[in-house]
Amino acid sequence: MPPANRHEPKRAKSSHSDYSVTEFLAEFPDDAACLEHLWRTRYAPDGEHAHCPRCNCRRVFKCYATKQQRQSWTCTGCGHHVHPTAGTIFHRSSTSLRLWFHAMYLMTSTRCGISAKQLERELGVHYKTAWRMFNKIRNELMNEGELTKPLSGEVEIDETSWGGKPRRKLKGMREAAQFREAKTTVLGMVERGGRVRLRVIASRRGEPLSGAVRANVNPESIIFTDDWRPYRPLSKEFAAHRVINHSAGVYVRGNVHTNTIEGFFGNLKTGMRGAYKVVSDKWLQSYLDEYAWRYNERFRGERSMFHSLLDTAARR
Ligand SMILES: [Zn+2]
Repeated sequence: MPPANRHEPKRAKSSHSDYSVTEFLAEFPDDAACLEHLWRTRYAPDGEHAHCPRCNCRRVFKCYATKQQRQSWTCTGCGHHVHPTAGTIFHRSSTSLRLWFHAMYLMTSTRCGISAKQLERELGVHYKTAWRMFNKIRNELMNEGELTKPLSGEVEIDETSWGGKPRRKLKGMREAAQFREAKTTVLGMVERGGRVRLRVIASRRGEPLSGAVRANVNPESIIFTDDWRPYRPLSKEFAAHRVINHSAGVYVRGNVHTNTIEGFFGNLKTGMRGAYKVVSDKWLQSYLDEYAWRYNERFRGERSMFHSLLDTAARR
């Protein structure tokens, strides 16, 4: 067998990884490479020709060396400057583009997310900087909002309470219910074989629950829930409503079950506990968006996930 080339490590055929940190750093070695990438995606695919708003036509742009920290491109017709970061989350940030890109890389290449504390160590930045970067990426790039297409097809719906376990054994169903109601509720909706939506809701009953379902699920869908009463009124608003009788100890009846969403909740809780320990109510929705985002992009490779996030950053 010929000796392996230690400069070109090979992956196993079974490996799911397609974008190692070495490959990422080779593509974006420095700030100039990151800026050039934004310039090309946002304005000039060939790196040279772009539309000049002042000349109102296509012009040749040049990047002249200046003392500015971040270079701009100049229209050779009229001298108008274009800043590739204008309007993006990177604009006016004192953190370098390379670090922003690296933070985005880490968020897309880890399975369960990464804490700001870890990012602080990894990038050698201040904790506050690390936290602010993650917060912005979550809130502005991973938040799919209600603007994207509602879920459709077969949609499983379930709710779960968020926060610590009781400190002592609760006496009876009544006390258990009171404890549950006092906690934050997360509603999960998932297309079988498709996308997920997670919403923090004000109550696990009435309008907060049904309103969130209505806002996120197409009425042509078949919905699957357990026999929690507040789901009942939804029956007449969707193509069909299949109910699994959890309170009678039944968990699967043919294709009637909510195992996909329950499995998702299980992974979510384990993952969040590992990466973030405690998440305050104020930021819970943005952490949920991050998890949902990764789940919804899971069929792409890591390289494509990273570029999808970068494209979102460039579009804004
Ligand atoms: Zn011009």
